[in-house]
Amino acid sequence: MKTTRTTYISKIATELKPSGIRRFFDLAAGMEDVISLGVGEPDFVTPWHIREAAINSLERGITSYTPNAGIIELREEIANYMKSTFDVEYCPKSEIIVTVGASSAIDMAMRTLLDPGDEVIVVEPCFVSYVPMVELAGGVAVKVQATKEHDFKIQASQLEGAITPKTKAIMLCSPNNPTGTMLNREELQAIANLAIEHDLLIIADEIYAELSYDEEYTSMAAMDGMRERTILVSGFSKSFAMTGWRLGFVCSPVEISSAMLKVHQYSLLCASTMSQYAAVEALRNGRPDIDEMVKSYRRRRNFIVQSFNEIGLTCHEPGGAFYAFPSIESTGLSSQEFAEQLLMKESVAVVPGDVFGESGEGFIRCSYASSLEQLQEAVKRIKRFIDSL
Ligand code: PLP
Repeated sequence: MKTTRTTYISKIATELKPSGIRRFFDLAAGMEDVISLGVGEPDFVTPWHIREAAINSLERGITSYTPNAGIIELREEIANYMKSTFDVEYCPKSEIIVTVGASSAIDMAMRTLLDPGDEVIVVEPCFVSYVPMVELAGGVAVKVQATKEHDFKIQASQLEGAITPKTKAIMLCSPNNPTGTMLNREELQAIANLAIEHDLLIIADEIYAELSYDEEYTSMAAMDGMRERTILVSGFSKSFAMTGWRLGFVCSPVEISSAMLKVHQYSLLCASTMSQYAAVEALRNGRPDIDEMVKSYRRRRNFIVQSFNEIGLTCHEPGGAFYAFPSIESTGLSSQEFAEQLLMKESVAVVPGDVFGESGEGFIRCSYASSLEQLQEAVKRIKRFIDSL
């Protein structure tokens, strides 16, 4: 006989910690006049022609399940897009799966690859879901810290030091959430060489690939010898401003893809049908929208990075995504204290860097996917807060 309801809950779910980001949303929820630099999503509405494609699909009565891997038109468009944008070829019939956001692609990859005790090297600071997803799949997340000394670019030597006979994969994200750091071709090559030498897979979360501001983006799968050992995760949430549509995709070599498809088929069946029709339109005609959004994010990145440096919060220039990750060490506060006091005193919500991993302590994540006016006001309030300390 189970005595309380909590005793029904599995050990693994009991031990999961709630996301540190949520706590700040909850704190900010009841407050007025809050400027939020906390949310990790575009401030754009999905472009109209993409919304219209979904409406059209509904008007045509297309409301049933799709094939497990997604409608073939979409997989073909994804294959064209991957070839023309990132120079990587995938077979639409056997190497691409349409998923419920990049989130389900990462979950599916972990559940497909990991046996109990298998290790995945996770580069921190990172998206808050990686470690829980490894653990929920029965694996062990071996955390490696990217640090400010290298502008949060992980060094191949650090990764090498974390490899054990149980390592199966390295989880990598570029451009990165929360640091905005983007790895260039040489830096990717050093990691690729390591993966090849130690016979490892790389799970490359490239969801921010389109949002790169200075250099041309290079996909891990485009590096020599890496197509065969990369599980490339991407999606529509960030680049097409489609977070609510819950649509992503994963490209991988056929053997891995067919194993992942079994997990996907039993757990999710297929991604949302109308979202898939919207995504076909996004890939066929959405290039000008991306270009416009990138131009706007670049302008805002330049503003916020310069402003943080001017008010004494040292901030490296993030090459991509829409996050600035300034240091708050000069204030003498921990990142939790800084974020909490800033919210209470000046009604600006940011995310404390330590929720993304140990090396995030001493930093805050500020999303600049807000209007320039809001960013200007936020900087003014942050300056007033720092001056008051
Ligand atoms: N990967 C990274 C690095 C992210 O920052 C996010 C969302 O914030 C996701 C994946 C999840 O994306 P999706 O909305 O496609 O599930």
